[in-house]
Amino acid sequence: MTKETLTVCPYCGAGCLMVLTTENNYIKKVSPFMKGDKFLCPKAVKVADFVHNPKRLTKPLVRDNNTFKETTWDNALNIIASRLSEIKDKHGPDSIGFMGSGCFTNEEIYIYQKFVRTVIGTNNIDSCARICHIPSLKALMRSIGSATMSNTMDEIEDTKLIFIAGYNPEVCHPRLYFKKIKTAKNKGHKIIVMDPRMTSVAKIADIFLQIRPGTEIPVLNAMANVIIKENLIDERFINNRTEGYEELKTSVEKYTPEFAENISGVSAKLIIDAARLYATIGNVVTLWGMGMTQHICGVDNVSALINLLLLTGNIGRVNTGLSPVRGQNNVQGASFIGALPDIFPGYKYVTDPDAQEKFKKLWAVESLPTKEGLTSTEFLPNVLAEEGSGINKIRALYIAGENPALSQANLNLIRRALMEVDFLVVQDIFMTETAKFADVVLPACTFAEKAGTYIRLDRAVQLLNPAISPLGESLPDWKIIKMLGHKMGHANLFPYNTESDIWEEIRKAIPDMAGITYERLTDGNAIHMPCPDICHPGTPVKYTDKFPRPSGRALFVPVNYRPPAETPNEEYPFTLITGRDAYHYNTSTITRFVPYLKQRTDRAYLQIHPKDAARYEILDGDDVEVVSRRGKVVLRASVTEEVMPGVVFAPFHFCEDPINLVTNNALDPLSKTPEYKITAIKIRKIDSDIT
Ligand code: SF4
Repeated sequence: MTKETLTVCPYCGAGCLMVLTTENNYIKKVSPFMKGDKFLCPKAVKVADFVHNPKRLTKPLVRDNNTFKETTWDNALNIIASRLSEIKDKHGPDSIGFMGSGCFTNEEIYIYQKFVRTVIGTNNIDSCARICHIPSLKALMRSIGSATMSNTMDEIEDTKLIFIAGYNPEVCHPRLYFKKIKTAKNKGHKIIVMDPRMTSVAKIADIFLQIRPGTEIPVLNAMANVIIKENLIDERFINNRTEGYEELKTSVEKYTPEFAENISGVSAKLIIDAARLYATIGNVVTLWGMGMTQHICGVDNVSALINLLLLTGNIGRVNTGLSPVRGQNNVQGASFIGALPDIFPGYKYVTDPDAQEKFKKLWAVESLPTKEGLTSTEFLPNVLAEEGSGINKIRALYIAGENPALSQANLNLIRRALMEVDFLVVQDIFMTETAKFADVVLPACTFAEKAGTYIRLDRAVQLLNPAISPLGESLPDWKIIKMLGHKMGHANLFPYNTESDIWEEIRKAIPDMAGITYERLTDGNAIHMPCPDICHPGTPVKYTDKFPRPSGRALFVPVNYRPPAETPNEEYPFTLITGRDAYHYNTSTITRFVPYLKQRTDRAYLQIHPKDAARYEILDGDDVEVVSRRGKVVLRASVTEEVMPGVVFAPFHFCEDPINLVTNNALDPLSKTPEYKITAIKIRKIDSDIT
């Protein structure tokens, strides 16, 4: 029998709605939903290829020396329950680290973090948000008091100016690029792009600030300097809605356009033009991506952006606002619902006594861990800590829907940790690079087999509906965690029979979700949280009267330029940037199983400027060895003027020769996010002596 199911795309945070036509538990067709943008990109149209791929995990597996053997759910969960209990009893709950996923539904994130905090008793939980937008969260929490996008994605096409920093929308969120940004351009609105690469959006920009990698702060501070000096500030907004203006004014005095030009390579004139346009046009939407966040100064980079929009009053009104454009489909949910070591559901700090009391009462437990946990970028390397070194040594890892053996920086280190950890559980849909190190592998379901909710990048909550029943013995992630909670003697904490039971508890846990029911989300309806009660329509524009800080005002945070952890030198003369390719997604866990996508980009490549290529006698398509202080890979050269001389770019998706073997794991001290965007490297054409 043919059935049509309306659900949500599993890839990016743009949350396109899709209709899956199924027959006999098989996806026959994928179509866009015929309301709204009616948009699906090629990745989305081909989801059946990975959902039904014969390589899907369909049974629990346990390690048997160098191989895996199939087992029952009962046995797999018994092993996990007993090993986690043993390690917890012997070494304490903080000796275990948990990674959750930006692909989980909100319901799955919720039950996972509840399991970690109540059954295990640690806050050592993290998600892929750590390596993308935690710097945005940190900067937004200190300036604004909340970390979500302030306005909706629909407003992008009706603003006057889109300011895009370190973000390549065509590959990260195709819907935003093709349906919002290009529409804005066609309507005659302006675009400013700040990026080291000539991306597709840079090509259509009115002003392109092509910066040297890592020089965001000098340029943004110089724009603030011009806006203040030329009295283009929104004085009323600053007086009524902000604090800390005088400190900011003093801090940007030295950042003249000429000073910024020296550091960034962007001409002073262009910086002045950008500042004037930004401050005088009326409405600006600011979008930023990992080009801003994946630096040792990622939090400060974002603060510099926030300062600009506060100076000009571009927040709290329709068609303005700040947009940390989250990548993965539910990475916004992963952080908002609490898959973070310092955050309870609803962006409440675990160290906040009121939040502690609230969650103890809600979960009917006597105690919860009060200390902030470790981030994934801390607890993974801590597996290798020496006994007695004083470092919190990690003995067990539970990794669900993440693939740190490809996604983390400095992979040789991370892979050693995965190999040496006493006990490793991986819960996923395919045998990922991380799963290959596991002691127990649990088969999870894809989005097509799941119900629940996602939070779109602009705070809109959307409903996911199962189109097919789980393949083989795979199970939705929430059921696996529930079963494990029961196995570990805490059935009372996980009384849920359906996803909707968990959602009802989330509505009690998070006042901003209280008014959102599954019924209100049917037929493709999306509700922007906060939505405090059942009659509330949702909140498309936030901060219209006050900011959620104690003073009710937003805070200017002065920030200063500091150089990257690694700068090019004689031995390592190039700066490597990493980023996305249009046809793959994250660690390509699912896209590598889609023939159409694999054919479009079949292996990792290195973009290199023609002048550099000529110097090294490299031709388009040649194999090039890329070497950093941490490792080396061989990539296919792609000679292009999209990168500037001295800078090269490689995508991070590929399992063969993964670029993260060379990337730098130096961390931003505030967000603990690695500096993926800047690695000093040297290159050599294979079979050539020129280095
Ligand atoms: Fe899916 Fe994002 Fe493409 Fe929409 S834009 S179809 S959500 S990948």
